[in-house]
Amino acid sequence: MENNMKKVYAICEKALHSGNLSKEEIILLLQCPEEQSDIIFQTADAVRKKEVGDQVHLRGLIEFSNYCKKNCEYCGIRGKNKSIDRYRLSQEEILQTAIRAESLGYRSVVMQSGEDPFFTAEILADMISTIKSHTDLAITLSAGEFSYDEYKIIKEAGADRYLLRFETSSEELYQKLHPDSDFHQRIKCLHILEELGYQVGSGFMVGLPGETPEILADNLLLLQKLDLDMAGIGPFLPNSDTNLAGAQGGTLINSLKAVAIARLLLRNAHIPATTAMGSLDPKGREKALQAGANVVMPNVTPEEFREMYQLYPNKICLRDDPAHCRKCITGKIQGLGRTVSTEHGHSLKIDRI
Ligand code: SAH
Ligand code: SF4
Repeated sequence: MENNMKKVYAICEKALHSGNLSKEEIILLLQCPEEQSDIIFQTADAVRKKEVGDQVHLRGLIEFSNYCKKNCEYCGIRGKNKSIDRYRLSQEEILQTAIRAESLGYRSVVMQSGEDPFFTAEILADMISTIKSHTDLAITLSAGEFSYDEYKIIKEAGADRYLLRFETSSEELYQKLHPDSDFHQRIKCLHILEELGYQVGSGFMVGLPGETPEILADNLLLLQKLDLDMAGIGPFLPNSDTNLAGAQGGTLINSLKAVAIARLLLRNAHIPATTAMGSLDPKGREKALQAGANVVMPNVTPEEFREMYQLYPNKICLRDDPAHCRKCITGKIQGLGRTVSTEHGHSLKIDRI
């Protein structure tokens, strides 16, 4: 054990200057005992400071539809879940929500939904160009898988970024959890998005049933291989409306380590302190911000719809209005000695914009 800690220190020392970590080194970091893990978080925090500075970028999250044709095993809004009410915001509600977010000081919004057949590429394009013509917001879309031509239509309407997590790097585990998706298709979508000029975000859940330390290390290496602009990592939180209700779920410590190692590997990518992290622990997002993260995505969805968009249980800030959330999160960020960015928070990878 003594010997392993020496190795952890040496890996951290090396990671201050280089993101070239081997799978074995990543596994050693993942297996470092919780009470000795601070060195990993401090190293990730130092790399974060050097690579992306002290500014925290806020993205207002607009959950515009909870209809979904897919049935990912872990997800509370999977199509076959008959115990939730479904909603879809109108174009006007979406526009007003985006305008409100901008008036609260957001420079960027993330539009997220299930795979809702109503929102075709043409309708999404129309939604995005409408928001673009009324605001100066940077727009990220996170609405699942489309074809090359569909992603192209959406990009040409003005979308800046796209979020599509690969969820796990294990093809076998992916196929088990996604009865109606294909791992290679998911990865192909990420390549298409990059080719079309989107700033691309992907990521995974920590602690999916069947995940091993090797898979978790491969997840992190896949983030690096994809050379992403953004990487979203959060714990898997078992949802009682799914077949995985009785599963264990991801832990905060493993999620924090994954965020920290992602920072060591990806250097200047944008890495959110995810809402799922905050749902697992009241200080989860602050801890992530001190372990490599530099983005927070507060919910700006109109309050009456939030309860229906529960991918996982105990979602935070269900009843807080967007103005309150904005103030609350600013206080938390400043409390950590950091500042809220007043810029769009585009990718820092120079070849992307
Ligand atoms: N439908 C789109 C976007 C919405 S889902 C898509 O699937 O890409 C957004 C993310 O929520 C998913 O990528 C998944 O990583 C996460 N998620 C879903 N169910 C979850 C759960 N039970 N616990 C934690 N995260 C979950
Ligand atoms: Fe639908 Fe996304 Fe949930 Fe899968 S993760 S069921 S695609 S909303």
